[in-house]
Amino acid sequence: MRTTAGWQATGPMALRRTSLERRDLRPDDIAVQVDYCGVCHTDLHALQNYGQHAKAPLVPGHELTGVVTETGPEVTAFSVGDRVAVGNIIDSCGVCAMCRAGQENFCHSFPTLTYGGIDRKDGSTTLGGYSREYVVRDAFAYPLPSGLDPAAAAPLLCAGVTVWEPLRSLGVGPGSRVAVAGLGGLGHLAVKTAVALGAATTVISRTRDKHEDARRLGAHDLIASTDTQQMAAARDTFDVVIDTISAPHDLAPYLRLVAMDGTLSLLGHLGPVTVEAMDLLVGRKKLGSAGSGGRPATAEMLRFCADNGIAADVEVLPSSQVHTALDRLRRNDVRYRFVLDMSDLG
Ligand SMILES: [Zn+2]
Ligand SMILES: [Zn+2]
Repeated sequence: MRTTAGWQATGPMALRRTSLERRDLRPDDIAVQVDYCGVCHTDLHALQNYGQHAKAPLVPGHELTGVVTETGPEVTAFSVGDRVAVGNIIDSCGVCAMCRAGQENFCHSFPTLTYGGIDRKDGSTTLGGYSREYVVRDAFAYPLPSGLDPAAAAPLLCAGVTVWEPLRSLGVGPGSRVAVAGLGGLGHLAVKTAVALGAATTVISRTRDKHEDARRLGAHDLIASTDTQQMAAARDTFDVVIDTISAPHDLAPYLRLVAMDGTLSLLGHLGPVTVEAMDLLVGRKKLGSAGSGGRPATAEMLRFCADNGIAADVEVLPSSQVHTALDRLRRNDVRYRFVLDMSDLG
């Protein structure tokens, strides 16, 4: 075993700096010095619920960027010194239909998660990126293109690919009309990506106070969801509505904005939803969802972001301020993503 430093949960919303063990490199492993790790809503949920069920060790973090420090003997895709990124899955069965289609994120036997997952070889609980080192199979690490800032790129590995897959699979491109509901970690990347894909892009926000931000992110228009006249005027006008609102909410007002044969893609709230079939029937509308990304899409997304100068708007904090980041994320007090700088871990 090798040891590193990281932030491990000791109770709900409580993390302690401690030393962590990483496995010795397998033939197809790389060791990564983690420089930056994004703070995702998933981390917050995991920490809020920590200790309520089983108490497997919890080290959050699944949006990490860094540098390769060591490679196993079979690794050919990476060399020591390469810039690299790791997202929220680190292994999969490799043989099911989803894996063969390059959708490892939907693996039939469930992909191995970057933290809180069960290692497919030794059965240990995976420990995430709130640490100075990560050891990962080379196939689930991605070259970080040189044009991307490693701190601002970290959130692309979860939030970025989560908006990329639906936008791509729904065929968004020049001429598409896209609306993004909710302007947070997911939403702001959805706006940037949709704009870069060539879509006429509108932000739907509760109030107009994010108007300036929406413009700065490249959006062409903003609709206040509380303005019934504006919402009525936008009926049936968007080919794709990306819904990133994390709280449970009524889908009907958003389905009404979807154009004929268009899609409402639900990315923020992943609990039960109630849908009136008539809201789908009128206009042959579709309701979909997506989350995370397969290996090909993740690599493609990173290249696209580098080519188009897209990264997250981030607030970088030293990892010692992880509790501040989590607390402010809980209060939605971030524009738009916290990233922890791991260099204070040695
Ligand atoms: Zn995430
Ligand atoms: Zn599989």
